[in-house]
Amino acid sequence: MFYLIKTPWLVKKYYSDCVWDIPSGEKDLYLSFDDGPHPVATPFILEQLKKYQAKATFFCIGKNARQEQDLYKKILDEGHRVGNHTYNHLRGTKTSDIKYFEDIRMAARYIDSNLFRPPYGRISKFQIELLKEKFHYKIIMWDVISADFDRSLTGDKCAINVIAHAKPGSIIIFHDSEKAWERLQIALPKVLEYFTSEGYKFKSID
Ligand SMILES: [Zn+2]
Repeated sequence: MFYLIKTPWLVKKYYSDCVWDIPSGEKDLYLSFDDGPHPVATPFILEQLKKYQAKATFFCIGKNARQEQDLYKKILDEGHRVGNHTYNHLRGTKTSDIKYFEDIRMAARYIDSNLFRPPYGRISKFQIELLKEKFHYKIIMWDVISADFDRSLTGDKCAINVIAHAKPGSIIIFHDSEKAWERLQIALPKVLEYFTSEGYKFKSID
């Protein structure tokens, strides 16, 4: 499995139509949770966020938002934001444009948002342009990956991935999914604790 914990500046420059971080000079961090809502992980995350008065952004999969409508509503009721992450978690670069946009449109029936994050971060320049210009989405990528999806890591290592690489304005990825749950439950409280004690605030993406 290949991935980079920290997104290189060259990638950010090449895909400069996407949002990779939100620098403002303030000690703000932007936690994001992909692939939910999940009946176990999402309530845990909401509880943790509440404990630290943290806000976050949840990039939901359409079919999960449809299945977990109460949880989806709870995310919004607690002051967080949601984003569209397609209906079936499709890889843009391996999907026809028609099928990709149809899937996003289907997800939009259950996810009311102008934020979009492409599954796997894989999306063509054409798809980005169309999503922005025609459908008025903001494409939200990330600066730091916790790698909580990587079963070869410990939860502690995932926390260290974030603690070592996040800086003011970083967008950070975790997952509210079955696959990541074992590591997320260890890593997330450590990340919240560390950065709160360092004077950071956690905000949702506007
Ligand atoms: Zn995903």
